[in-house]
Amino acid sequence: MRFNELNLNKDILDAIKKAGYEEATPIQEKSIPVMLEGRDMIGLAQTGTGKTAAFALPILEMLEPRRKNQIRALVLTPTRELAIQIFENFKKYGRYRKLRTVCLYGGAKKGNQINALYRGCDILVATPGRLIDLANEGHFTLDHIQILVLDEADRMLDMGFLPDMKRIIAMTPETRQTVMFSATMEKKVEALAREMLTDPERIQVAAQNNAADTVEQRLIFTEREMKDEVIINLLQEQLEKDDENALSRKDRTNAIVFTRTKRGAERLNRVLNHAGIGAAAIHGDKTQGQRKDALDRFRAGRTQVLVATDVAARGIDVPSLSYVFNYDLPEEAENYVHRIGRTGRAGEEGIAITLCDKEELELLEAIEYLIKKEIPVVETEWSIHLERIPHRGQGSNGRRRYHKPEGQNGQNGSRENRQSSQRRNHYRSNGGQNKSYRKPRHMSHREKTRHMSENKSARES
Ligand code: ADP
Ligand code: MG
Repeated sequence: MRFNELNLNKDILDAIKKAGYEEATPIQEKSIPVMLEGRDMIGLAQTGTGKTAAFALPILEMLEPRRKNQIRALVLTPTRELAIQIFENFKKYGRYRKLRTVCLYGGAKKGNQINALYRGCDILVATPGRLIDLANEGHFTLDHIQILVLDEADRMLDMGFLPDMKRIIAMTPETRQTVMFSATMEKKVEALAREMLTDPERIQVAAQNNAADTVEQRLIFTEREMKDEVIINLLQEQLEKDDENALSRKDRTNAIVFTRTKRGAERLNRVLNHAGIGAAAIHGDKTQGQRKDALDRFRAGRTQVLVATDVAARGIDVPSLSYVFNYDLPEEAENYVHRIGRTGRAGEEGIAITLCDKEELELLEAIEYLIKKEIPVVETEWSIHLERIPHRGQGSNGRRRYHKPEGQNGQNGSRENRQSSQRRNHYRSNGGQNKSYRKPRHMSHREKTRHMSENKSARES
């Protein structure tokens, strides 16, 4: 659908045009009319589907330009990177609108943020902690909020922001319109919605928890000790290809490599740089300045590899990211979907490669259960034979937090469970042929790629 069918003002349409967008994405097409009606709403969509504009455009449309310093829209988001990104989006889409947006986040000096507030604020974008901090200091009130957006609500809950969110919501008038966006609809998100929203319209695009369809997923079974070598070789191979093709900086291959821990990210970053691969690490122990700097360099193509933890990378928007590597499998299965959602954005192609060792088979099982498919295995010279754990179904292990499979039309998951165990049996019964331990042997980079893609196409055909 074209934006001009969505009842938006000309100055907003002009800004969209200037941003280069041709058509509204599905979540935008569905959310914008509901928000313009003033209804509460839950928007369920994967990362990269354009949720920011889905709420920013109607907010810009609905707020009257006014001189009075009253904060009338509030967007809460879990991380500073996201806050900055949303803030920049408001500026982009609102360039012809006389509305001021202010951004508050932790890890930076308060002074500038306070000054910005006193210069006037119509729309506030904030992470919960800093918002409460500055509200307690008496710099603003939320008495005039008309629209409240909870962006990445599932993530805010995961990060333990529930008490903060409740305090903030209690500062806003009950007459407000509340809109919530989430990539997943877990029980706790459901509960939050019941508490904070009034008769919300539920909007969902694409099947829940389906990994973005544009992302090509691959799995390499290997040993933990081999992982550095695998990553270095796969990255070097790609970066060398770039050199041969003499691409401009912006078109060069880039990759995010995910690790589970901050220390893991630091270590891998050192290893990669030692191997001559220009990498930078972002994680929670870095200062705001360091993280912004690393991101800016990465976006500009000056650093080609970013080593990141889940929290640090959440929601980061890098147009045309070529690769996502999962050096470690995520502890929470949903994070797999978030991670691979970093590539293949806005309809572009992307490749996600996951390295799995034998300690991680349970995590793999939880992921494949969530996405309801097996990630295709590719054989490399570092591959080892590992047997997948047949999944034990829901509730058999209280420690693991599976999603209830969302059967269509409200069915329960039994049919899917059955299908998926059939698939697994099939997998096991013919899996023997290709699964012997491959002795490491020397292979040229080119040979390796060919090898990988051959194996892949053999499996897919
Ligand atoms: P999400 O919040 O769902 O993860 P974002 O709002 O960050 O997604 O948008 C992802 C990317 O898609 C951004 O680079 C954004 O500029 C781009 N984008 C958003 N809407 C459109 C559109 N209608 N057409 C083309 N690109 C878009
Ligand atoms: Mg977003």
